[in-house]
Amino acid sequence: MSEARLREDIVRFARFLFERGLTPGSSGNISARLEDGGWLVTPTNASMGFLDPARLSRLDGEGRLVSGDRPTKEMFLHSALYETRSGDRAIVHLHSTHAVAVSMLPDLDPTNVLPPLTAYYLMRVGSSALLPYYRPGDPEVAAAIRGLAGRYASVLLANHGPVVAGASLDAAANAIEELEETAKLFLLLRGCKTRFLTNEQVAAVREAFPS
Ligand SMILES: [Zn+2]
Repeated sequence: MSEARLREDIVRFARFLFERGLTPGSSGNISARLEDGGWLVTPTNASMGFLDPARLSRLDGEGRLVSGDRPTKEMFLHSALYETRSGDRAIVHLHSTHAVAVSMLPDLDPTNVLPPLTAYYLMRVGSSALLPYYRPGDPEVAAAIRGLAGRYASVLLANHGPVVAGASLDAAANAIEELEETAKLFLLLRGCKTRFLTNEQVAAVREAFPS
């Protein structure tokens, strides 16, 4: 994909996610790999709803700013996940309400935050890891993401939000939206007797749609 097309796609997906109410204010950020090994990244303090394709941060392969505005201060979250997931080409990070709310609940399984509610969650997200709370900018969170060793495309940061990688921007954006919707279902059902997918049903979905 050409750089010009990728710039347009980042702006389009960012606006879509913003308009769906999935990341408030100037929160949330997107990055995507370029063919030359560099990166396009959404700028710091920029609302996802009002990005300019010409002002996206263009980084080289070492993460140095080549052109555009300064990149998001959360780029280190993206870098840590890319380091362990070499096949992925895009990452979306949001402060989406329902996923953040779930991240604050006690007694979650850190190796699989959400139960198997729908087949689409299994197909698009798989399972999400939960990492503990870190203060904004704490480099330890990057170490924690690396510690997951690339086993998860979807990582939920407690009291903060999800970081989701994909083979394409389209895949990452769809997966993070599916994660948010599943978190919403999970919260809607709290306190209700719920029929989750059975182990057999989960296995059948995984066999039919291997990730
Ligand atoms: Zn964040």
